[in-house]
Amino acid sequence: MENRTQCPICRATNASHSGAGANTSDVHCPRCGRFQIQTLAETQLMNSPPPFPPQHLLSGLCRNTWEILGEKLLITVDLFKSWTELDKVAKIAVPRDTDVATRSDYLLRYLRRHSRSLADAVPFTPTELAVGFCANKNELLFCLRYLSDKGLIEEDAAAQRKGQQGGSLAYRLTPAGWAALDTARLPAAQPLAAVSFSLDKESDAVWTQGLSAGIQTAGYTAIRLDSREHANKITDELIVDLRRASIVVADLTGQSPLAYFEAGLALGLGKPVFWTCEETEARDKKLFLETRQHVVTTWTRDKLDDFARRFAQRIEAALGRP
Ligand SMILES: [Zn+2]
Repeated sequence: MENRTQCPICRATNASHSGAGANTSDVHCPRCGRFQIQTLAETQLMNSPPPFPPQHLLSGLCRNTWEILGEKLLITVDLFKSWTELDKVAKIAVPRDTDVATRSDYLLRYLRRHSRSLADAVPFTPTELAVGFCANKNELLFCLRYLSDKGLIEEDAAAQRKGQQGGSLAYRLTPAGWAALDTARLPAAQPLAAVSFSLDKESDAVWTQGLSAGIQTAGYTAIRLDSREHANKITDELIVDLRRASIVVADLTGQSPLAYFEAGLALGLGKPVFWTCEETEARDKKLFLETRQHVVTTWTRDKLDDFARRFAQRIEAALGRP
Protein backbone atom coordinates (compact mmCIF):
# COMPACT_ATOMS: atom_id res chain seq x y z
CA MET A 1 0.00 0.00 0.00
CA GLU A 2 1.42 3.38 -0.95
CA ASN A 3 0.30 6.74 0.34
CA ARG A 4 1.74 10.26 0.22
CA THR A 5 3.42 11.35 3.42
CA GLN A 6 6.05 13.57 4.89
CA CYS A 7 9.70 12.63 4.41
CA PRO A 8 11.21 11.91 7.87
CA ILE A 9 14.52 13.48 6.81
CA CYS A 10 13.77 16.70 4.91
CA ARG A 11 10.05 17.02 5.80
CA ALA A 12 9.00 17.33 2.15
CA THR A 13 5.28 16.65 2.08
CA ASN A 14 5.23 14.85 -1.26
CA ALA A 15 7.21 11.75 -0.33
CA SER A 16 5.72 8.33 -0.84
CA HIS A 17 5.88 5.67 1.80
CA SER A 18 5.39 1.92 1.67
CA GLY A 19 6.03 -1.07 3.90
CA ALA A 20 9.26 -2.97 3.29
CA GLY A 21 9.10 -5.84 5.75
CA ALA A 22 8.78 -5.88 9.50
CA ASN A 23 9.58 -2.55 11.16
CA THR A 24 11.00 -1.07 7.96
CA SER A 25 9.55 1.38 5.48
CA ASP A 26 10.53 2.27 1.97
CA VAL A 27 10.47 6.02 1.33
CA HIS A 28 10.71 7.84 -1.98
CA CYS A 29 11.37 11.54 -1.56
CA PRO A 30 12.04 13.99 -4.42
CA ARG A 31 14.91 15.50 -2.44
CA CYS A 32 16.38 12.51 -0.56
CA GLY A 33 15.81 9.89 -3.27
CA ARG A 34 14.82 6.34 -2.31
CA PHE A 35 15.84 4.93 1.04
CA GLN A 36 14.70 2.52 3.72
CA ILE A 37 14.17 3.41 7.33
CA GLN A 38 13.52 1.43 10.49
CA THR A 39 10.41 2.45 12.42
CA LEU A 40 12.41 3.33 15.51
CA ALA A 41 14.67 5.66 13.53
CA GLU A 42 11.69 7.23 11.78
CA THR A 43 9.89 7.88 15.06
CA GLN A 44 13.00 9.52 16.44
CA LEU A 45 13.49 11.73 13.37
CA MET A 46 9.86 12.84 13.41
CA ASN A 47 9.42 13.37 17.15
CA SER A 48 12.78 14.35 18.60
CA PRO A 49 15.37 14.78 15.84
CA PRO A 50 18.83 13.66 16.97
CA PRO A 51 21.61 16.30 16.97
CA PHE A 52 23.65 14.09 14.62
CA PRO A 53 23.75 13.78 11.66
CA PRO A 54 22.53 17.14 10.37
CA GLN A 55 19.47 16.76 8.18
CA HIS A 56 21.18 17.97 4.99
CA LEU A 57 23.93 15.41 5.41
CA LEU A 58 21.58 12.45 5.80
CA SER A 59 19.52 13.75 2.91
CA GLY A 60 22.64 14.00 0.72
CA LEU A 61 23.81 10.53 1.69
CA CYS A 62 20.45 8.94 0.80
CA ARG A 63 20.06 10.84 -2.47
CA ASN A 64 23.58 10.16 -3.73
CA THR A 65 23.58 6.50 -2.65
CA TRP A 66 20.38 6.05 -4.64
CA GLU A 67 21.45 8.10 -7.67
CA ILE A 68 25.02 6.88 -7.97
CA LEU A 69 24.85 3.28 -6.74
CA GLY A 70 21.13 2.58 -7.27
CA GLU A 71 20.98 1.31 -3.69
CA LYS A 72 18.62 2.27 -0.89
CA LEU A 73 20.42 3.26 2.28
CA LEU A 74 18.92 1.64 5.37
CA ILE A 75 18.58 4.22 8.11
CA THR A 76 18.82 2.81 11.64
CA VAL A 77 19.31 4.60 14.96
CA ASP A 78 22.96 3.49 14.86
CA LEU A 79 23.58 6.19 12.25
CA PHE A 80 22.65 8.86 14.77
CA LYS A 81 25.54 7.93 17.07
CA SER A 82 28.71 9.25 15.49
CA TRP A 83 30.72 9.90 12.36
CA THR A 84 32.34 6.48 12.80
CA GLU A 85 28.96 4.73 12.64
CA LEU A 86 27.87 6.84 9.70
CA ASP A 87 31.06 6.27 7.71
CA LYS A 88 30.79 2.54 8.39
CA VAL A 89 27.38 2.35 6.74
CA ALA A 90 28.01 4.86 3.95
CA LYS A 91 29.13 3.37 0.67
CA ILE A 92 30.05 6.79 -0.70
CA ALA A 93 32.23 9.54 0.77
CA VAL A 94 30.28 11.76 3.17
CA PRO A 95 31.81 15.26 3.01
CA ARG A 96 32.48 17.20 6.20
CA ASP A 97 30.83 20.62 6.34
CA THR A 98 33.79 22.60 4.99
CA ASP A 99 34.79 20.06 2.36
CA VAL A 100 33.83 22.18 -0.64
CA ALA A 101 35.86 20.09 -3.08
CA THR A 102 34.01 16.82 -2.39
CA ARG A 103 30.59 18.46 -2.36
CA SER A 104 31.35 20.21 -5.64
CA ASP A 105 32.58 16.96 -7.13
CA TYR A 106 29.15 15.41 -6.46
CA LEU A 107 27.52 18.38 -8.22
CA LEU A 108 29.87 18.05 -11.19
CA ARG A 109 29.03 14.36 -11.58
CA TYR A 110 25.34 15.16 -11.25
CA LEU A 111 25.67 17.56 -14.18
CA ARG A 112 27.30 14.85 -16.26
CA ARG A 113 24.59 12.30 -15.42
CA HIS A 114 21.80 14.71 -16.31
CA SER A 115 23.27 16.39 -19.42
CA ARG A 116 21.50 14.94 -22.45
CA SER A 117 24.05 16.50 -24.78
CA LEU A 118 27.35 18.40 -24.49
CA ALA A 119 25.90 21.92 -24.23
CA ASP A 120 22.78 20.94 -22.29
CA ALA A 121 21.87 23.09 -19.28
CA VAL A 122 20.73 21.20 -16.18
CA PRO A 123 18.22 22.85 -13.82
CA PHE A 124 18.85 23.04 -10.09
CA THR A 125 15.68 23.16 -8.02
CA PRO A 126 15.55 23.09 -4.20
CA THR A 127 15.40 19.28 -4.37
CA GLU A 128 18.95 19.32 -5.79
CA LEU A 129 20.33 20.74 -2.54
CA ALA A 130 20.78 17.11 -1.51
CA VAL A 131 23.09 16.37 -4.46
CA GLY A 132 25.81 18.64 -3.02
CA PHE A 133 25.02 17.85 0.65
CA CYS A 134 23.93 21.51 0.95
CA ALA A 135 21.89 22.90 3.85
CA ASN A 136 20.44 25.83 1.90
CA LYS A 137 20.51 27.67 -1.40
CA ASN A 138 23.49 29.82 -0.40
CA GLU A 139 25.60 26.73 0.18
CA LEU A 140 24.57 25.33 -3.18
CA LEU A 141 25.47 28.62 -4.91
CA PHE A 142 28.80 28.64 -3.05
CA CYS A 143 29.72 25.17 -4.36
CA LEU A 144 28.53 26.01 -7.86
CA ARG A 145 30.66 29.17 -7.79
CA TYR A 146 33.66 27.07 -6.80
CA LEU A 147 33.17 24.93 -9.93
CA SER A 148 32.47 27.99 -12.03
CA ASP A 149 35.65 29.77 -10.81
CA LYS A 150 37.61 26.68 -11.81
CA GLY A 151 36.10 27.00 -15.30
CA LEU A 152 34.35 23.62 -15.09
CA ILE A 153 30.74 24.84 -15.31
CA GLU A 154 28.87 27.96 -16.44
CA GLU A 155 25.50 29.37 -15.57
CA ASP A 156 22.81 29.26 -18.24
CA ALA A 157 21.82 32.92 -18.49
CA ALA A 158 18.77 32.14 -20.66
CA ALA A 159 17.23 30.04 -17.88
CA GLN A 160 17.72 32.90 -15.47
CA ARG A 161 15.83 35.26 -17.78
CA LYS A 162 13.02 32.80 -18.49
CA GLY A 163 12.42 32.14 -14.82
CA GLN A 164 10.11 34.22 -12.70
CA GLN A 165 11.29 36.56 -9.95
CA GLY A 166 14.58 35.42 -8.47
CA GLY A 167 15.18 33.36 -11.59
CA SER A 168 15.61 29.62 -11.91
CA LEU A 169 19.04 28.10 -11.73
CA ALA A 170 20.55 26.10 -14.56
CA TYR A 171 24.16 25.21 -15.24
CA ARG A 172 26.05 23.46 -18.00
CA LEU A 173 29.43 21.78 -18.10
CA THR A 174 32.10 23.69 -19.99
CA PRO A 175 34.46 21.91 -22.40
CA ALA A 176 37.03 21.99 -19.58
CA GLY A 177 34.43 20.42 -17.26
CA TRP A 178 33.80 17.53 -19.65
CA ALA A 179 37.53 17.05 -20.12
CA ALA A 180 38.12 17.02 -16.38
CA LEU A 181 35.45 14.36 -15.90
CA ASP A 182 36.70 12.24 -18.76
CA THR A 183 40.29 12.15 -17.69
CA ALA A 184 39.33 11.94 -14.01
CA ARG A 185 41.98 14.52 -13.14
CA LEU A 186 39.93 15.93 -10.29
CA PRO A 187 41.66 15.44 -6.95
CA ALA A 188 38.74 13.51 -5.49
CA ALA A 189 38.70 11.25 -8.49
CA GLN A 190 42.25 9.90 -8.16
CA PRO A 191 41.97 6.16 -8.73
CA LEU A 192 42.09 3.97 -5.66
CA ALA A 193 44.44 1.15 -4.81
CA ALA A 194 42.91 -1.23 -2.26
CA VAL A 195 45.66 -2.78 -0.16
CA SER A 196 45.42 -6.00 1.77
CA PHE A 197 47.99 -5.49 4.52
CA SER A 198 47.57 -7.37 7.78
CA LEU A 199 50.66 -6.42 9.79
CA ASP A 200 50.19 -4.79 13.16
CA LYS A 201 50.88 -1.34 14.59
CA GLU A 202 54.66 -1.53 14.64
CA SER A 203 54.57 -1.83 10.88
CA ASP A 204 53.23 1.67 10.35
CA ALA A 205 56.46 2.70 8.61
CA VAL A 206 56.08 -0.18 6.14
CA TRP A 207 52.70 1.24 5.29
CA THR A 208 53.49 4.99 5.17
CA GLN A 209 57.05 4.95 3.77
CA GLY A 210 56.71 1.79 1.73
CA LEU A 211 53.37 0.69 0.32
CA SER A 212 51.42 3.92 0.52
CA ALA A 213 54.33 6.05 -0.73
CA GLY A 214 54.99 3.75 -3.70
CA ILE A 215 51.32 3.60 -4.65
CA GLN A 216 51.04 7.40 -4.41
CA THR A 217 54.06 7.81 -6.70
CA ALA A 218 52.40 5.55 -9.25
CA GLY A 219 49.36 7.89 -9.24
CA TYR A 220 46.88 6.11 -6.94
CA THR A 221 45.39 6.75 -3.52
CA ALA A 222 46.04 3.82 -1.21
CA ILE A 223 43.29 2.57 1.08
CA ARG A 224 43.85 -0.22 3.61
CA LEU A 225 41.32 -3.00 3.51
CA ASP A 226 42.05 -4.06 7.10
CA SER A 227 41.80 -0.69 8.81
CA ARG A 228 38.12 -1.02 9.54
CA GLU A 229 36.79 -2.10 12.89
CA HIS A 230 35.82 -5.56 11.79
CA ALA A 231 39.25 -6.64 10.66
CA ASN A 232 39.70 -10.17 9.37
CA LYS A 233 36.11 -10.56 8.32
CA ILE A 234 34.65 -10.71 4.88
CA THR A 235 32.17 -7.86 4.92
CA ASP A 236 30.07 -5.95 2.42
CA GLU A 237 32.34 -2.93 2.94
CA LEU A 238 35.34 -4.99 1.95
CA ILE A 239 33.67 -6.02 -1.29
CA VAL A 240 32.57 -2.43 -1.99
CA ASP A 241 36.16 -1.24 -1.48
CA LEU A 242 37.44 -3.90 -3.85
CA ARG A 243 34.87 -2.92 -6.47
CA ARG A 244 35.74 0.77 -6.16
CA ALA A 245 39.45 0.17 -6.48
CA SER A 246 41.24 0.45 -9.80
CA ILE A 247 44.05 -1.83 -8.65
CA VAL A 248 44.54 -4.17 -5.70
CA VAL A 249 47.74 -4.79 -3.77
CA ALA A 250 48.09 -7.95 -1.70
CA ASP A 251 50.89 -8.03 0.85
CA LEU A 252 51.55 -11.67 1.69
CA THR A 253 53.74 -11.08 4.75
CA GLY A 254 52.35 -13.22 7.55
CA GLN A 255 50.54 -15.44 5.05
CA SER A 256 47.10 -14.20 5.99
CA PRO A 257 44.42 -16.30 4.26
CA LEU A 258 42.40 -13.11 3.90
CA ALA A 259 45.11 -11.59 1.67
CA TYR A 260 44.79 -14.51 -0.73
CA PHE A 261 41.01 -14.34 -0.57
CA GLU A 262 40.97 -10.60 -1.28
CA ALA A 263 43.40 -10.99 -4.15
CA GLY A 264 41.32 -13.85 -5.59
CA LEU A 265 38.16 -11.82 -5.34
CA ALA A 266 39.90 -8.87 -7.03
CA LEU A 267 41.08 -11.08 -9.90
CA GLY A 268 37.51 -12.33 -10.28
CA LEU A 269 36.34 -8.73 -10.55
CA GLY A 270 38.90 -8.15 -13.28
CA LYS A 271 41.19 -5.89 -11.23
CA PRO A 272 44.96 -5.93 -11.73
CA VAL A 273 46.60 -7.42 -8.62
CA PHE A 274 50.12 -6.60 -7.41
CA TRP A 275 51.89 -8.82 -4.88
CA THR A 276 54.32 -7.74 -2.17
CA CYS A 277 56.04 -9.53 0.73
CA GLU A 278 58.79 -9.04 3.27
CA GLU A 279 62.03 -10.25 1.67
CA THR A 280 63.17 -13.06 4.02
CA GLU A 281 59.66 -14.37 4.32
CA ALA A 282 59.26 -14.48 0.57
CA ARG A 283 62.55 -16.37 0.32
CA ASP A 284 62.14 -18.82 3.22
CA LYS A 285 58.46 -19.58 3.30
CA LYS A 286 56.57 -21.11 0.51
CA LEU A 287 54.11 -18.55 -0.76
CA PHE A 288 50.85 -20.03 -1.96
CA LEU A 289 51.54 -18.46 -5.28
CA GLU A 290 53.32 -19.53 -8.43
CA THR A 291 56.18 -17.04 -8.30
CA ARG A 292 57.28 -17.77 -11.85
CA GLN A 293 53.96 -16.41 -13.07
CA HIS A 294 53.39 -13.71 -10.48
CA VAL A 295 55.97 -11.04 -9.73
CA VAL A 296 56.30 -10.45 -5.98
CA THR A 297 57.93 -7.11 -5.10
CA THR A 298 59.79 -7.63 -1.82
CA TRP A 299 60.55 -5.14 0.91
CA THR A 300 62.92 -4.88 3.90
CA ARG A 301 62.38 -2.61 6.88
CA ASP A 302 65.73 -0.85 6.43
CA LYS A 303 65.17 0.07 2.77
CA LEU A 304 61.58 1.20 2.52
CA ASP A 305 62.38 4.16 0.26
CA ASP A 306 63.98 1.80 -2.20
CA PHE A 307 60.97 -0.50 -2.06
CA ALA A 308 58.55 2.42 -2.65
CA ARG A 309 60.51 3.43 -5.75
CA ARG A 310 60.70 -0.12 -7.14
CA PHE A 311 57.04 -0.78 -6.43
CA ALA A 312 55.92 2.42 -8.19
CA GLN A 313 58.03 1.39 -11.19
CA ARG A 314 56.47 -2.07 -11.15
CA ILE A 315 52.92 -0.64 -11.23
CA GLU A 316 53.79 1.89 -13.92
CA ALA A 317 55.54 -0.74 -16.02
CA ALA A 318 52.42 -2.92 -15.94
CA LEU A 319 49.73 -0.26 -16.39
CA GLY A 320 51.34 3.07 -17.32
CA ARG A 321 50.23 6.24 -15.56
CA PRO A 322 46.55 6.28 -14.55
ZN1 LIG B 1 13.36 13.97 1.95
